[in-house]
Amino acid sequence: MVNEFEIKKQICDIGRRIYNRNMVAANDGNISVKLNDNEFLCTPTGVSKGFMTPEFICKVDAQGNVIQANPGFKPSSEIKMHMRVYEKRPDVGSVVHAHPMYATSFAIAGIPLTQPIMPEAVIALGCVPIAEYGTPSTMEIPDNLEKYLPYFDAVLLENHGALTWSTDLNAAYMKMESVEFYAQLLYQSKLLGGPKEFDEKNIKKLYEIRRKFGMAGKHPANLCQNKSGMNCHNCGGACHDGGEFKKFPGYQYDFVGGDCGCTEETPAQNDAQVVAEITKRVMEQLGMK
Ligand SMILES: [Zn+2]
Repeated sequence: MVNEFEIKKQICDIGRRIYNRNMVAANDGNISVKLNDNEFLCTPTGVSKGFMTPEFICKVDAQGNVIQANPGFKPSSEIKMHMRVYEKRPDVGSVVHAHPMYATSFAIAGIPLTQPIMPEAVIALGCVPIAEYGTPSTMEIPDNLEKYLPYFDAVLLENHGALTWSTDLNAAYMKMESVEFYAQLLYQSKLLGGPKEFDEKNIKKLYEIRRKFGMAGKHPANLCQNKSGMNCHNCGGACHDGGEFKKFPGYQYDFVGGDCGCTEETPAQNDAQVVAEITKRVMEQLGMK
């Protein structure tokens, strides 16, 4: 078990990365890490995330109340949206919020990232929907975010930025990097005349790879693809009529019928193994090797 001071240093390191990669300007963005069910570390408000040291980091309880903060520091005003993620997703160990240039541009233009254009984005992210606009620091953001939490690991925040979450800090940050890279590719390919999307057959193959490897987190591939939707451990049958998802562009791929493919739990492998194997399978399945 990594000690608390080490985790604070890791938060500072990820803060430097999001700042240096232009994913935040000035004092924007915030990061949190779950220590246990009632203790969470988070970045303070009003400081640049690129220049933090461990004593900047605050500790809050599950309601976002301060447990410990050094003089001059108080938790991010956006801690409420982090706490809502932890409340609704017990599998999550870290949440990252940033304003990356391309992802935020899509969030401002009101365009969700739903076009299936590259294997890694389809496997790792699926669709990235837009959570409806909420005033920062109010309960509007967590409330608008809530309905997406059971089914996604990344969302755009309308007219605001992006939010990602995962099992640990590094994975949550990597998800942010993937969202931004995907948004940038989508943007550039639109300038070049529009992206060529994968067809349904290739998307199904990529989703199948994700399911086979039991990757952590939630993803459209985890949604029940059995039209009857019964006995699906992921959705409990809730998605059998399309339900909530019909309103997300791009979700036609999830309701194509056929075998559910997700009634058996596959033990999660470590990230490096999964990535290496996926890359190999994707190349093979797309006939690129
Ligand atoms: Zn923000």
